[in-house]
Order: sequence, then C-alpha cells, then structure tokens
Amino acid sequence: MQSKKKLIAGNWKMNGSLAANQTLLDAIVAGMADAQCDVAVAVPAPYLAQVQAQVSGSLIGVAAQDVSAHESGAYTGEVSASMLKEHGVRYVLVGHSERRQYHHESDADVAQKAQRALAAGITPIVCVGETLQEREAGETEAVVKRQLAAVIHLNGHCISEIVVAYEPVWAIGTGRTASPEQAQAVHAVLRTQLAAASEHADRIRLLYGGSMNAANAAQLLAQPDIDGGLVGGASLKAPDFLQIIHAAR
Ligand code: PEP
Repeated sequence: MQSKKKLIAGNWKMNGSLAANQTLLDAIVAGMADAQCDVAVAVPAPYLAQVQAQVSGSLIGVAAQDVSAHESGAYTGEVSASMLKEHGVRYVLVGHSERRQYHHESDADVAQKAQRALAAGITPIVCVGETLQEREAGETEAVVKRQLAAVIHLNGHCISEIVVAYEPVWAIGTGRTASPEQAQAVHAVLRTQLAAASEHADRIRLLYGGSMNAANAAQLLAQPDIDGGLVGGASLKAPDFLQIIHAAR
C-alpha cells in the first residue's frame, strides 16, 4: 500500500548521553522541516523525558525500546506501558532480535508486550526476522509467520493498530542489507498474513530494518509493501538519518 504515510524510526540502542542526544536531535529537527513521513526515535529509557521535552512541537514521535509484559508489581528493573505513556511515548519496539537473542524473549512474551502497549495507547513496533541459519535452511517465511502469528493470536482485531518491522537478523548491524527484492518478498508474505487476520490490515505499516542507510534507503522504500524503515546505526548520524527521512515519500 503506497498511500500510507511512511514511518522512519531510529533505534538508538544503548547509545547516547544527555549532551550527545541534544546535539543529535537539534540537527535532526533542524533538517526535517519538509519531511513527508512520520519520524520516531527509540531511545534508552533514562532519556525519554529529555527527548520528549526536546522534540515536543516537532514532528518526531518518541519511542521506547522495550516494555514490560506485566502491568505493574514486583518486576525489578522493568518499565510498564503506563509509565511510558506518562512520558509521552507514542511507539515502543517489541521483540527486537537483540531482546529475543540476549534476553530470551519468546514469541508469547513479545505478544504480551504488544498487548500491554496497545492497552496503554502506545503503538507497538513488532519486530520479526530470521537468522542467517534459518534463511539458509529455507525457513524465512515460516519463522516470520510464526513470530507474527503469536501477536495476531493474542491481540485479535487490535492488530490493525500495530506497526510491523521485518528485520532479518543477519542484516542488523552487519552492513549486510537484504536486497529490495528479498525484503519485498517477505513484506508481501506478512501483508497477506495480516490481511487474513484483519479487515483493516491495509493501514498497518510494514517497516524494513537491517543496515538501512543513506545509500540504500530510497530503493528499499520504493518497494510496494515497504512502508518505512527501522534504522539502527544510521540513526545516530544526523545527516544519514535525514537522508533516509527525505527518501521516504
Ligand atoms: C536495528 O537495530 O533495529 C537495526 C536495524 O540496526 P542497523 O540499522 O544498525 O542494522
């Protein structure tokens, strides 16, 4: 669906400082006056208030990088969806491959996190993607469908309110990008799966993530089922992030 406004979301991962964030955001805000897409930055939790204050009045939406699967209670170290909401958070990443890999998040955990976000009025950006081993074994389609099915199953008709990010694990932070054709093929699979689950699936934005950069963004974003990007490394450099933003139209 090319008619949807594209979304470019930066994922800062565990990077930043008060001073560096301010410099980066100043440059992004100054450079995106004529942007034609929605823009978000997913920042470490301690910086949510700083970033929210700095981007208020701009077109940038604040995103968190994770949310608890629980509502409240004895979960030391976790941050709830309602706490994020209080900080003006508009989007939250759920199921990023680094969370699945290093924190052993299951498909069920990810589905629960998406549910918590939706209940708090925050848009979950549900990340799915196969490892290199899974791609080489011909399992890409089965893996991403299984990951998304868990979210669909738990969230029912609310899934029309989510964003999905296809992020092949082998492309994240490696400099190795899926070709536009490879990405589009998986996006088409996800689009079909969503359409079977919701009559409003056409409003769901499907982002591509995995070494998206200033040089390859336009080609990826020109694919019919790619509605934006989830950008890691390149979102930490204002000129690169701005070039990606301006490629999204
Ligand atoms: C990510 O962290 O979601 C990501 C896509 O990272 P990178 O762009 O650095 O591959």
